[in-house]
Amino acid sequence: MLKGNPDIGLYNLFLPKGCELCRLGGKLVVYITGECGDSCYYCPVSYERFGKDVMFANETHVSSLLDYIYEAYRMNALGAGITGGDPILAIDRVVSLIRLLKDEFGEEFHIHLYTSGRYVTNDVLRELDKVGLDEIRFHPVKEEYLKAVEKALKYSFDVGLEIPAIPGEEEYAEKLIKWAIEKGVKFVNINELELTERNYQLLNARGFKISHGVAGVKGSFESALRILRKFEDSKIALHYCSSVYKDIVETRTRFLRIIKYSAKPYENYTGEGTIVRAIVKSKEDLSDYGEKEREFWSVSPEFVNVINADEIWLVEEHPDSRRLRISEKLVYSKSK
Ligand code: SF4
Repeated sequence: MLKGNPDIGLYNLFLPKGCELCRLGGKLVVYITGECGDSCYYCPVSYERFGKDVMFANETHVSSLLDYIYEAYRMNALGAGITGGDPILAIDRVVSLIRLLKDEFGEEFHIHLYTSGRYVTNDVLRELDKVGLDEIRFHPVKEEYLKAVEKALKYSFDVGLEIPAIPGEEEYAEKLIKWAIEKGVKFVNINELELTERNYQLLNARGFKISHGVAGVKGSFESALRILRKFEDSKIALHYCSSVYKDIVETRTRFLRIIKYSAKPYENYTGEGTIVRAIVKSKEDLSDYGEKEREFWSVSPEFVNVINADEIWLVEEHPDSRRLRISEKLVYSKSK
């Protein structure tokens, strides 16, 4: 019997450990490089990232491996998911980062990694195993990449497949699942196909349109469900992950976790996982109400009626270190 919720995700046996921790908002998203040797027409990676050797910790552009440690502390991360591009093209960086994270947060800090398998060799797998990678997920764009999956099965980390649910292409997905069962792969994740700013023209050209949530492609959920139903009683763990989960729920859950562990006492939060605070220009000392950042004070919106101010703005921001500002409104000005 399938468990879960079709809007978020469905599974037959259990959730892979990496997904279980992601659902708690506890996975640091490590984007280690945008470089990739493949060119999938449905690739969801943005223009800002794809093909570029850039690094992001969650949503924040970073330049050093230590920035990942800082971001992991901010959210009290339980683990990390290393993605790209193809992280194997930055294997030295990946190995150094896994070592750093495990040294800092302990062996139980769970790390999973995504790759197409194109560049995975025994040397790569040996290095990843040595530094303590916990889970590897292959997105075998081509059948020949399955050779890398077979190699990976000889190591101690969990091995899974990560495939998109493409309407009309269920046959390839089913072939992969049968192969995975035969070889003893631990799990197969089936992702709802999503339209993004970068892939929408190629998807539209193939007749794929949005139907579900903000980006889910029409027919992708139904395609995933047909596959799940066909294999639900088999011994392999299958998990469908919706685009709504990836685009909205995962980010919101992670934001709420960041707020729980690193919001300042004067920062209020919303159910969407955003921070609301008042930015105040005042000649008074407001340290009883908040904190001074350069010439402005940050105070709780609850105190704006009791403080002596020249100007007050209410701002709403994302809680991660990028602090993307969603809105700002001048609510009081002495001069007006
Ligand atoms: S392998 Fe992944 S990152 Fe590379 S093109 Fe395909 S979907 Fe995009």
